[in-house]
Amino acid sequence: MGKPTGFQEFNRELPAKTPVTERVKNYNEFVHAYSDEKLNQQSARCMNCGIPFCHSGCPLGNIIPEFNDAVYRKKWEEAYNILSSTNNFPEFTGRICPAPCESACVLGINKPAVAIEEIEKHIIEIAYSKNLVKPTAPLVKTGKSVAVVGSGPAGLAAAAQLSKAGHAVTVYERDDRAGGLLRYGIPDFKLEKWVIDRRLEVMEKDGVEFKYNTEVGKDISADEIVRNNDAVIIAGGSTIPRNLNIPGRELKGIYFAMDFLKQQNKRVSNIEVTAEDILATGKDVIVIGGGDTGSDCVGTSNRQGARSIKQFEVMMQPPVQRTEHMPWPTYPMVLKTTSSHEEGADRYWGINTEEFLGDEDGNLRAIRVNEVSWELDVMGRPIKFNKVEGSEREIPCQRIFLAMGFLNPQYEGMIESLGIELDPRKNVKATEGAYRTSVSKVFAAGDMRRGQSLVVWAISEGREAARKVDEFLMGHSLLESKDAVN
Ligand code: FAD
Repeated sequence: MGKPTGFQEFNRELPAKTPVTERVKNYNEFVHAYSDEKLNQQSARCMNCGIPFCHSGCPLGNIIPEFNDAVYRKKWEEAYNILSSTNNFPEFTGRICPAPCESACVLGINKPAVAIEEIEKHIIEIAYSKNLVKPTAPLVKTGKSVAVVGSGPAGLAAAAQLSKAGHAVTVYERDDRAGGLLRYGIPDFKLEKWVIDRRLEVMEKDGVEFKYNTEVGKDISADEIVRNNDAVIIAGGSTIPRNLNIPGRELKGIYFAMDFLKQQNKRVSNIEVTAEDILATGKDVIVIGGGDTGSDCVGTSNRQGARSIKQFEVMMQPPVQRTEHMPWPTYPMVLKTTSSHEEGADRYWGINTEEFLGDEDGNLRAIRVNEVSWELDVMGRPIKFNKVEGSEREIPCQRIFLAMGFLNPQYEGMIESLGIELDPRKNVKATEGAYRTSVSKVFAAGDMRRGQSLVVWAISEGREAARKVDEFLMGHSLLESKDAVN
């Protein structure tokens, strides 16, 4: 690689962050950029490891040693070309990916892994600043049309690839803007929304057409979309949240995390919030659920000025806490420590919620919980929890955000009307690698097929499904496949 001794000379360093006291005053991203010298040093840490496991650790098959080498040599166009050959949206993954590539980094065996995610973000930001990010659609079109339903990372990646293959692409989105959970789930302090808009501009120049406020299966019939196109990719996400049907659920003050997060993302973007305001300001907040959604509720509650924030998780505390140099959480993966926790929240593990308690006006006033102990299987994995007798307690609170994951896609509308088969987990049935559903011409990608997952997997599925559609339409495909990399 660029500097064979780099991994011995330089320690892993991440860019500085805005101090907590400052960053909680707004919703801006708070991770700064490397200096030129630091970026050069960090890329030099990628060693000539022989078998770069980072390739297969990344769901996109990113060709990491090669782009690190190009960064070290300051060959920005080369670095961008390598990175964009496997990843349509490094500006998203470079900000919010949990970076499975870093946990696969060979250097990580005895030193902190190469800071791959940050290097990726720098490559794409430099590429934009040097005007290297250009439309990729060919001048000669295939004459085929493809509809993509859903504009989350899976739908956007599919659309970008299909357009690159020369097909006419229309993206249908029920929301008023594109991005899916990037837009209306993930808060601005993790991903500012101009980053999505900048990418959409490139895609629009590429000829991708976006139809907003259009729910397929409601505002426009799903049959019509299938009839009028040569192929369809459905990428509607996994949007039905897991509920907690215990006594008191009807009380005022208990909300699904997504209702809370979506409102705040709209406020930050100056988009009108039409529903009743859901705010944590001045309240004692309890977040139930320990994943990304839960920690985004913590960060948002802090910024709204909550009086106190507690986060409950029924799982046990993981044996090793995630640190910034050990980016992949240890088992169980749901219990991540994120930058939102640095900003302040009391975390409790092994807590089960029994009941929500209200006052005479039907407002939430407290939660009754108990502690649990877990039975483990032979591998040490938790299989069943039991209540710890006598551990019940009541905790005052006026806001609860339910962040316990998502069950499945919405069936009502598109899936029901097309009669698409579901898999045993109740997601859309379409095997990984083929992405074809039970309905002719209809393919599926992202959380709708895979179940709730990660942005990097959504992009990967969108790309791979686009390639399968291209093969279906043309008999072969020149689009890149991650299988060619690994
Ligand atoms: P989505 O992003 O859900 O997009 C689906 C889109 O389809 C939506 O815009 C929806 O409106 C639209 N749609 C659905 N049905 C229809 C229809 N019938 N007609 C028209 N449009 C339709 N992952 C990470 O890697 N890092 C993180 O930090 C992270 N943080 C997260 C934080 C939160 C709060 C949440 C909820 C998830 C987070 N994730 C994170 C997970 C990640 O966002 C998802 O895995 C990813 O967005 C899934 O992409 P997708 O394209 O499959 O679906």
